[in-house]
Amino acid sequence: MNHFDYVDGILHAEGVSISDLAAKVGTPFYVYSSATLERHYQIFKDALDEQGLDTLVCYAVKANSNQSVLRTLGNLGAGADVVSEGEMRRALAAGIPADRIVFSGVGKTAAEMAAAMEEGILELNVESIPELDTLSKVADAMETEAHIAIRVNPDVDANTHEKIATGKKENKFGIDIEMAGQIYAKAMELPGVKPVSIAVHIGSQLTDLAPFRAAFTKVAETVQMLDNMGVPLERIDIGGGLGIPYSHGDEEPPLPKDYAKVVKETLGHLNKKIMLEPGRLIVGNAGLLVSEVIFDKKGDTKRFVIVDAAMNDLVRPTLYDGHHEIIAVEEAKNDEIHSLSDVVGPVCETGDTFTKNRELPEFETGDLIAFGSAGAYGAVMASTYNSRLLVPEVMVKDDQFAVIRPRQDYEALIGLDKTAPWLEENHSE
Ligand SMILES: *Cc1c(COP(=O)(O)O)cnc(C)c1O
Repeated sequence: MNHFDYVDGILHAEGVSISDLAAKVGTPFYVYSSATLERHYQIFKDALDEQGLDTLVCYAVKANSNQSVLRTLGNLGAGADVVSEGEMRRALAAGIPADRIVFSGVGKTAAEMAAAMEEGILELNVESIPELDTLSKVADAMETEAHIAIRVNPDVDANTHEKIATGKKENKFGIDIEMAGQIYAKAMELPGVKPVSIAVHIGSQLTDLAPFRAAFTKVAETVQMLDNMGVPLERIDIGGGLGIPYSHGDEEPPLPKDYAKVVKETLGHLNKKIMLEPGRLIVGNAGLLVSEVIFDKKGDTKRFVIVDAAMNDLVRPTLYDGHHEIIAVEEAKNDEIHSLSDVVGPVCETGDTFTKNRELPEFETGDLIAFGSAGAYGAVMASTYNSRLLVPEVMVKDDQFAVIRPRQDYEALIGLDKTAPWLEENHSE
């Protein structure tokens, strides 16, 4: 459920008209609903509470790292799952306390490890033996002890797009679960590291509970084995990955309450604190990308709706074959003559295509359209390719709105470049 709906024939985000917003902010822009963000977090957390589980929900910052998004979730008690020093700094800047931050990722540098320990974050999730060795050295040199989880790779097929599957042996993530005993034994010996947890994350946009059940069951067996070995873990971090519906009529992904039951059934008996790292589930359906139609171009055999948003603003369709609903902001438009069309942006790449052969109403120059489910992996992946300005982000709460990231301007964009001194106009030998 979300809070985007038609009011008097115009699409609204909560109490704010999207066409009013477009007039004020210009297009394209992202808009997020705080009520939807809060609702999604709460539904997820409540589902876990209902199972009597002791949990910490660490929102996966990479899905949407805007300060206002982080602050909205942090205020509800969310922690943060970060995968770079930059994300850690964003989470801290948004007021999320260090003891609710977990640092994941296969390629943490020594400098990032040191920064994480400097800030005193809750734990680092280690994904390889060289990482474990480096962390041990860095922490020992700082005369501190890093609390760690080993991220295990359970060799489970997540049944999702290949670019976001992370739990198979051939993926770069985690350490083979069969080797967990050896690695934990090693970690117990090393100075500067203290194993307190075990982590798993098998992929994103999962639409079925079976892979979760398979992975969590393997993790439970491993935790029991570690307990017997005298590696008493305090926590289990089960990652994120629960999918969201991207289109009407699609098979609905599992509900948080059913997911929570699987967590309880597979891990509840171990009496450990459970950490979770949902990203997409929280923000995905809390955002739209709003764009204006530049031309409705009809050729001999094909029709193209050319809009002012492009692959640099929302890369999911071309990167992951991601599907987004496309609707007219003016409700009545949706009833006008439908024909098959591609929706494309102005970028000079054939890959700059949001959808192919979709049944869409007739558009005129200046009509507004909205891409649904654009809150996760949207703005965070935006670039300035083709020297297009980074898109603004707007947050809505009831009938208020705030620009939570203004549109870049050309001076700022071009000002990032520096002219080499020998090319300066007044340069003399
Ligand atoms: C990306 C990621 C997540 C979040 O995944 P979602 O599918 O957005 O829930 C959680 N944990 C880790 C380690 C990740 O890499």
